[in-house]
Parts: sequence; structure tokens; C-alpha cells
Amino acid sequence: MAKLDPETLKREMTAWRRDLHAHPEFGFEEKRTAAFVAAKLREFGLYDVAEGVGGTGVVGTLKRGSGNRAIALRADMDALRIAEQSSAPYRSGNPGIMHACGHDGHTAMLLGAAKLLAGEGGFDGTVRFIFQPAEEWGRGALAMLDDGLMQRFPFAEIFGLHNMPGLPVGHFETRAGPVMSAEDNFEIVLKGLGGHAARPHSGNETLVAACALVTNLQTIVSRRLSPTDIAVVSVTELITDGTRNALPGLARILGDARSFRPEVSAEIERQMRIIAEGTAAAYNVAAEVNYTREFVPLHNDTELVEAAFAAAKNVFEPGNIAIAREPVTASEDFARFLDHVPGCFVFLGNGEASAPLHNSSYDFNDEGLVFGASFHAAIVRQRLGF
Ligand SMILES: [Zn+2]
Ligand SMILES: [Zn+2]
Repeated sequence: MAKLDPETLKREMTAWRRDLHAHPEFGFEEKRTAAFVAAKLREFGLYDVAEGVGGTGVVGTLKRGSGNRAIALRADMDALRIAEQSSAPYRSGNPGIMHACGHDGHTAMLLGAAKLLAGEGGFDGTVRFIFQPAEEWGRGALAMLDDGLMQRFPFAEIFGLHNMPGLPVGHFETRAGPVMSAEDNFEIVLKGLGGHAARPHSGNETLVAACALVTNLQTIVSRRLSPTDIAVVSVTELITDGTRNALPGLARILGDARSFRPEVSAEIERQMRIIAEGTAAAYNVAAEVNYTREFVPLHNDTELVEAAFAAAKNVFEPGNIAIAREPVTASEDFARFLDHVPGCFVFLGNGEASAPLHNSSYDFNDEGLVFGASFHAAIVRQRLGF
């Protein structure tokens, strides 16, 4: 089969990426993006392109040879509710929504890989190209799985990638075992009796109790978990119904907890309930704890990490391939697929000058497109070799 000209592919991917960047869509609203993806996959001659999988998800299937093994490559398509600060000609045309996590780049790279593999082949078996909705919500992967992804488009292993600001373009990192954390959310509601600011003793106001509780929650990580367990408990909001001269009868404490093992997540919740109830009792108010699990931890399969490093050698300079020093306490919806099959998630440099992810000045670095598409193709040839 004909070799694709890398410069032409780079130009095309850049045009796709900027088109997607100019038209960002929030989770489960990626209608234009999904239609764009499906049209491209059909243009590349994919065997089967399914739309509307788990809402706005797209799955393209490409078969070569007679091999009966199937692997999946996954990209995410959603943008964030952030107002973009940019003067680029391709800046967001949807006010208040922007591609601040580089999912426009991830989508363009996976499309590039589909074009590359459809045009050049070089593997024996089936590749599933999975374009998932709503990664940022932590809901899109589950929606596709609940829509029968594994039954309708079976595969034995899955690979995904994320751009990483701070890491130079053309650099590759991953690690075996824990890579990204679970994300749990919590809401603690304190209920007492509000009243006149001049007469605190005649009610049971909730603000002082809430302040004590925020401080006490800091002891979960420092005094209740093993020092060898990585975890974060962050209170992010404290909201009351108090006003200038009235003490609150209600206080809501909201926050976010990160961990890498389900047992640690369970222990954070258990300790949070003990501390919330104990603190509330001490201040004579009532506490109600709502604890939810939004993202599960992402663990890379050891054998597939080795395969990813071997494939990376075909794409990156030897000095630019590294084992990630430590797991990241951010979360990734990709982990949901790993409840069904082993997989490997990797990081690609977005440049040292890149703004951080989820920042209003962030932009995906188009110089990274060829590396991502080539890595996707390399891992397919590595895993579905002749
Ligand atoms: Zn993100
Ligand atoms: Zn992301």
C-alpha cells in the first residue's frame, strides 16, 4: 500500500485540529464534532462507522488480513465551559466553551492514525477507533460501555494518550501501575438554627462548626491514612445561608478527594463521616454527608506498558522516551475501559511554553500531531503484527 506523505498528513491534521478548536462542544453535546469524525472515517474507507454510541460517541472499525485479534485506540472529543483568551484565527466560536484540555488535538491525532492505518495497513487484525464524549464529566466512557461497546465492538486491549504541558514536544512518558487518580466528590450539609448575629447563644449557628470541620478534614490525609498512601482531600467551597446580621442555620461544605486505590477512597469516606458527625455533635448541629465517586483510578497493564515503550522507539528519539516518575493526581475517564480490558495510557509533550490544561490561554500544540498519530499507528503494528 502507498506510504502517506508525512508533511501532507501533518497539514491535514492541523486543519482538522483547528476546525475542531474553532467549534468546541461540551460533553454529550459533541454533535458537530462527532459528525466531523464520522465523515472523515468514512472518507478514509473504514469498514464500519457507528455513530450515537453512548450519546455522541463514534466507533470506527478497520480490518486488515485474517487475524482475529482486535485492539482499541481511544480519543476524547469534549470541550470545557471556559471562556477562551486567544487571538488565534481559529479561536473558539462558541462563547464560554473552549478546547482547554487538548481533546481537539487528541481527536485530530486519532483521525490521522485512522487515515495512516487505512492507507498503509501494516497490521493483521481489527482496530477499533473509539471517539468518546464527555471525558471531563467522567461520564462518556460509561455511557459508551452501557450502550454495549464491548459486545458490539469487542476488543482485547485499549490504548489512549493525553498531551502534557511542560513536557517538550516529541517527548513520551508513561509508567506501569497507577498513572492517574480516582476523583471522589463530597458535600457535607450542616443543619442548625440560624438567628440574630447579636444573640448566637439563642440558636445553633453552623458557620463556626463548618470552619472547625474544614480544619478537621485536613487530618484525614495527615493522621488517618498511611504515609505511603497518596491522597488529597480538598475543600473547595463553603456556602451558608447567613447574611450581614444573621447567623446561618445551614452550611454546605463541598470538595474533592483523590486517591489511587479503592481501599483508600473507601477509608477517606469512612473517616469523613466519623469526623463530620463528631464535629457536628460537638457544635450541637446535624451533619449529612454525600460522597460520590466520579472517576476510578487509572492503572496501566505492565505488559502493555512494555509494548507501548517498544512502539514509542519507532516514533520518538531514544533520549525523549522516559518512565513517568510519579502518578498524576488528575483523573481520566479512560480508566473505565480498564474495568473491562487491560490497557495503557501515555503522555505526549505539549511544549514547555504551553499554558496549563484547563487554563483559558491553553492551546494544543500542532507540532505534536504527527507524534501522536504515529504512536497510535506504531502500537497497532506492535500489537497486531504479522
Ligand atoms: Zn481536562
Ligand atoms: Zn483531557
